[in-house]
Amino acid sequence: MNGEPDLYIGGSWRHAGDGATRDIINPADGSLAARVDEATPHDARDAVTAARRVFDDGSWAATPVAERAALLDRVADLLVRDREELSLLETRDTGKTLAESRIDMDDITSVFRYYARLIAVQADRLVDVGDPSIISRVVREPVGVCVLIAPWNYPLLQMSWKVAPALAAGCTMVVKPSEVTPLSTIAFTRLLEEAGVPAGVVNLVQGSGATLGNALTDTAEVDFISFTGGVATGRTIAQVAAKHVTKVALELGGKNPHLVFADIGTAAGWDSAVDHVLTGVFLHSGQVCSAGTRLIIEESIADDFVADLAARAAKIRVGDGMDPASETGPLVSEQHRGKVESYVALGISEGATLVCGGARPSDPVLAKGSYYLPTIFDRCDRSMRIVTEETFGPILTVERFTDESEAIRLGNDTQYGLAAGVRTSDAGRGERVVRALRHGTVWLNDFGYYTAAAEWGGFGKSGNGRELGPTGLAEYQETKHIWHNVAPQKAGWFKG
Ligand code: NAP
Repeated sequence: MNGEPDLYIGGSWRHAGDGATRDIINPADGSLAARVDEATPHDARDAVTAARRVFDDGSWAATPVAERAALLDRVADLLVRDREELSLLETRDTGKTLAESRIDMDDITSVFRYYARLIAVQADRLVDVGDPSIISRVVREPVGVCVLIAPWNYPLLQMSWKVAPALAAGCTMVVKPSEVTPLSTIAFTRLLEEAGVPAGVVNLVQGSGATLGNALTDTAEVDFISFTGGVATGRTIAQVAAKHVTKVALELGGKNPHLVFADIGTAAGWDSAVDHVLTGVFLHSGQVCSAGTRLIIEESIADDFVADLAARAAKIRVGDGMDPASETGPLVSEQHRGKVESYVALGISEGATLVCGGARPSDPVLAKGSYYLPTIFDRCDRSMRIVTEETFGPILTVERFTDESEAIRLGNDTQYGLAAGVRTSDAGRGERVVRALRHGTVWLNDFGYYTAAAEWGGFGKSGNGRELGPTGLAEYQETKHIWHNVAPQKAGWFKG
């Protein structure tokens, strides 16, 4: 970064093979945030080979579990120490508010602590085969060389969901952050080195996914690819990986419904529902895979609720993430703002009613950044692409229902299935509806929360596999059944 080498391969820091660099732009004001090395496909292949070599020498996988757990705890300690520095980098790179970046760093720390604990207690499973001379047990072993690819919206958080269980399991890995947001991952890799991760266990390359993708995925040297990003990229990776029958886990997009019933109850229930709908969709300017972008609301309260939402949305303070007064920051890049603007134009042309936003902020202080106002479209329906496609920006669409079954049908009427919210004061209805929704996470009378100990992932085109929780560790492990005959005697099939 800024002249220091940024590629970490086989335990050494190096510049790109062809000396290329990339300018990382701060979306808050268009300034240069940093200049980083841009890996070549050859660098990426070197990284994979280094990870393969170190995995095959077996020493990392054979490291006692207690030592690997202690290493994860040391990483967590260093994350606490460097919380502010990493948060500043994340905000400079992504535009998200510093308050959000700090929460990310705390969450990342908890992921390392969680997997340190989990790996320490994971036990082999004994199977009773009904014969005292046979010890049958199922053990877990590292899946091998992993390629870990993360998106730009939660660069280090998404990466930590992969690196922590991969290290815990005893895997080696190549880490590739988004070309747009590599800064926190570079700093984090230096932190892993300081914590004592052995050379070649974690390797880092950054650069364009389109350029490096094949070097990282079209190879028999890789055992597992864990990818978080868009559906189109996920599909490409799965197709390439299929050539080598490489195991793949995909965490993809979402178009997440938030169902609000008329029985939300008291004034406090109403206000809290408005709060959660707003936070669910406009946090991080909507650049959240689980953002509640589709409000599905009971007709009888829709007009009043949308009026309240619009009044509150207009007051959201959009600004530089470094400014403590800002409640949400810019979009990640000019290019991405262009995409969001084209969706707003599409919504208008599709006949949705623009209730608020639909423009860049008028404040001249924000003119150089890629800001966009919280935007609400009412009177939407499933014939509109703004309702079915992931806009990944601060856009809320509103659909209306008249009864519970229609609400469920609308909530499930999506190609995705990442997350959903339900708002009701009727506990029976709440339980019925959350069980009927086909989404990987469902929040009842809340929105957006998760914990390292509970699985995260999607139904449908939101992907396959799970991160976090025990399943998030199992993704990085193979199971092996060991059948040990402690009293072998001649008892074969053939008698001769
Ligand atoms: P993306 O364009 O699919 O990119 C994701 C990552 O894949 C980036 O590191 C990208 O590198 C890399 N990549 C691109 N082409 C590749 C290829 N051919 N082979 C290997 N890697 C390749 O997604 P994004 O725009 O960064 O992220 C937004 C998407 O991520 C949204 O759809 C969002 O919903 C999803 N997401 C999902 C979750 C979840 O938990 N399910 C969480 C966060 C985000 P470059 O950036 O260098 O192109």
